Amino acid sequence: MAFIVAIDGPAGSGKGTITKLVGEKLGLVNIDTGATYRCVTLAALQKGYTLEQEEKIVELLNEIQIELKKENGKEKFYLNHIDVTDEIRTPKVNAMVSQVSHIPQVRDNMANFQRKMAEGKDVIMEGRDIGTNVFPNADVKIYLDATPEERAKRRILQNQEKGIESTYEEILENIKFRDHNDKTSSVAPLKQAEDAIYVDSSHLTIEEVTDKIIKIIQERREKK
Ligand code: C5P
Repeated sequence: MAFIVAIDGPAGSGKGTITKLVGEKLGLVNIDTGATYRCVTLAALQKGYTLEQEEKIVELLNEIQIELKKENGKEKFYLNHIDVTDEIRTPKVNAMVSQVSHIPQVRDNMANFQRKMAEGKDVIMEGRDIGTNVFPNADVKIYLDATPEERAKRRILQNQEKGIESTYEEILENIKFRDHNDKTSSVAPLKQAEDAIYVDSSHLTIEEVTDKIIKIIQERREKK
């Protein structure tokens, strides 16, 4: 039977980096669910839709094709057969993705898509509602957290590496805005599943968090 690891937590908590590293070390397929919502948001932006045009955004779900491909060891996201891996991380998408992801039909559609992506595989899936909604019976559930200030510092470094211009204030504001949106959403809000293990990464190195999570997963895997 497939083995599912769910990693949930707020923006910038280190989920992306940690999930990739843990997945590589343990041979689990890494699925970034935020990227699926980012693809829908980019598709809406390409059409020039605003958040007021919710029905148009919902209609788009039947028209677009999202694919996850592994190329040279890297996960690439394709929207309508075009590589959008970098484009889905721009400030324009950041500003709109949280609201798009909370449109109920978008959520339902993407949650089903995410379950399909995992079918028959051993996966490590990161997002906001994996342990509570997408895979409530996941074998391992981790809730990864860090302070908003620490998360903003990390995001700014990531952006610098990618050549994306941004200021600390702008990022901190966006993180707090998205936290609020994600935690107060009426559909699948961001919250720790009752049976999830809480890991605070604020004062831990990437290696320390990775090791901690690997240990938790290995213990569960041995018992299965
Ligand atoms: O993880 P990332 O920052 O790429 O996610 C982008 C946005 O997508 C989040 O701010 C959140 O609003 C939404 N999201 C979600 N549920 C998930 C993953 C992401 O609502 N499982």
